[in-house]
Amino acid sequence: MLTDLRTLQLAGKKVLVRCDFNVPLENGAISDPGRIDASLETIRYILEQGGAAVLCSHLGRPKERDLKYTLKPVAEYLSDKLGMKVALAPDCIGDHTGRMITALARGQALLLENLRFHPEEEANDADFAHELARGKEVYVNDAFGTAHRAHASTAGVTRYLSERAPGFLMMREIQALSRLTGNPEHPYVAILGGAKVSDKIGVIRSLMNKVDAFLIGGAMAYTFLRAMGEPTGRSRVEEDKIELAAELLQAARTIGVAFELPSDHVVADAPSGGAAEVVSRIPDNKMGLDIGPETVKRFVARIESAKTVVWNGPLGLFEEAPFARGTLEVGQALAQSSAVSVLGGGDTAAAVANQPWASKFSHISTGGGASLEFLEGIELPGIKALER
Ligand code: AMP
Repeated sequence: MLTDLRTLQLAGKKVLVRCDFNVPLENGAISDPGRIDASLETIRYILEQGGAAVLCSHLGRPKERDLKYTLKPVAEYLSDKLGMKVALAPDCIGDHTGRMITALARGQALLLENLRFHPEEEANDADFAHELARGKEVYVNDAFGTAHRAHASTAGVTRYLSERAPGFLMMREIQALSRLTGNPEHPYVAILGGAKVSDKIGVIRSLMNKVDAFLIGGAMAYTFLRAMGEPTGRSRVEEDKIELAAELLQAARTIGVAFELPSDHVVADAPSGGAAEVVSRIPDNKMGLDIGPETVKRFVARIESAKTVVWNGPLGLFEEAPFARGTLEVGQALAQSSAVSVLGGGDTAAAVANQPWASKFSHISTGGGASLEFLEGIELPGIKALER
């Protein structure tokens, strides 16, 4: 059982809030603040209730203290958005930071420096988790994107803070994804794309008994096409996964699940060079970089009759305009369909982000790996640790 944040007494209390501020930076500036914006509702609520918010997050993958990964730009962005000074503590633990936390008044927020400046964070070290909990009375986790990792700030810390709850973003993620793991309405369709079959094996296996159809695009489709003996030219194929792809195709046939692969392709000489053309058989010297228009039509027809759709992974090399069409046309059809539509994965979200129809999806998950593991039915340590 998870506690509803709204039932906790926050007034006058120090609240440790695990956020996902792992935002992309370009030359030290935040290029997409989406993840910070997504956590503002929870932070504002805690402050309005008279709590003092001690915010913490990781940023990037530093192995030790490395100011290239400082959360300073996040503190500045938060100060601007919340209309109050959000100071950055010099570290996430230690005496200096402890004094700043003690001095924090009701309705004020402080941001701790990058958790991953300490390797103990990812090691889920008990002493480090204890230090993180020191001086706080309540724990709120709003970082769904790291909920599939048992780190000190997502799991270990809850041993020392018995008053705890998911933040509003975390709760929305759990509710939206539970609609898919519970009793989804049929026809239920899974659209999978992206670079690698290997990332999606678990989710294909677990969805095999649940969905009525898989629609496969992206580079991963070519490993399946090769397994069927189709020509794939110079497309990205995972040679060591061909056999596994054949097994998954066979499993789908046995169970009677439709496994739709691209029947035409947008190809070019290289990802960034040469004219793009549409073919139904990939020539030896070309790479498949997007699904073709006939495939889009087939996929859209499936989507239009679906009641539930989950989508993870772009259907082509969407970062390059000539190869973005498949992802965008399928995305638009899904957004405008009446199906419950849940998107997961940073790339999928980025691919549709600026489209006028992007707000029409039922839910865009902020978690990539976390949303896949949730769909696979794996218990996420960051959610389990919040339970009473
Ligand atoms: P993933 O992280 O597995 O979701 O993969 C996303 C990446 O796969 C994106 O950067 C896409 O551009 C890339 N991608 C999708 N389709 C293709 C393709 N046909 N060839 C090469 N890369 C692709």
